[in-house]
Amino acid sequence: MTAEDPLVPPPTRAPKPNRRPRPKKRKFSDPGRSFAKRLERYRPGLIPFVLDGLASKYGRPSWERRLDPTSELILTILTQSTADTNAEAAFEALRRAYPGGGPVEAHKPGAGWGGFGLPDGAAPDWARVEFAPIPELTDVIRPGGLPNQKAPRLQTTLRKIREERGDYSLEFLGDMPAIEARDWLDEIDGIGKKTASVLLLFCFGQPLLPIDRHVDRVMRRVGVLPPKPSLDEAHDLVLGLFEPDQMYEAHVNLIQHGRKVCHAQRPEHDACPLRARCRYVDPKAP
Ligand code: SF4
Repeated sequence: MTAEDPLVPPPTRAPKPNRRPRPKKRKFSDPGRSFAKRLERYRPGLIPFVLDGLASKYGRPSWERRLDPTSELILTILTQSTADTNAEAAFEALRRAYPGGGPVEAHKPGAGWGGFGLPDGAAPDWARVEFAPIPELTDVIRPGGLPNQKAPRLQTTLRKIREERGDYSLEFLGDMPAIEARDWLDEIDGIGKKTASVLLLFCFGQPLLPIDRHVDRVMRRVGVLPPKPSLDEAHDLVLGLFEPDQMYEAHVNLIQHGRKVCHAQRPEHDACPLRARCRYVDPKAP
């Protein structure tokens, strides 16, 4: 063996062969799409089955604007935790107590609405509603139920619109992307994804699916929605399940089905077109 010559540099190490980078874990930025893919893998064709089954019973509703968006929002707040008929009575009381001078509107509630529909009339004077003394406004909307909660909520909502926009019109929301518009509304105290989605779907045909207790019940029973997620999360999950032009039909027909057949108590399974694939009657349904 020869001694190492200190002047001769040691041989350089051969560079390590390039390692194949580890495949990154796949990330889904959109929980709705991820969930939709899983559902389609494990229960193929479930969404068209639900849509077609409900359409065979209720037809395919076509979209029509219900009211101007500010009236729609206020009416939707009035429906919170009460029957639609009570909300109609409260809205009519607002019209009488604070008459507005705008155009007369026809209310076209459509099949999913649980009331009779409002008579033709102009929207209330929103400035007078916003600045009314709370005890007075509470009395006016008492027929709608929960007036002590809803009177301040109405005023907060109208204040936010006026302060941000300079007037009470919400027509600008129709020009925004659906999720951005929903987020704008979601920032108002007491307005959640459901109320925001109702307004955007019914006033502008935005591709959102409001989930009320009827829609929620039917979807979870059939297994279109998993049992755990909150209502808030469910509003994002459903966005990947339906095509944008199916949202209105899905919402209206699911509500009708929850009201007429898939009751909370004693659902009428025998009258249900979804029975063959419903996980509530058969936990192993395909
Ligand atoms: S089969 Fe029964 S539980 Fe399932 S969706 Fe129909 S009515 Fe509801």
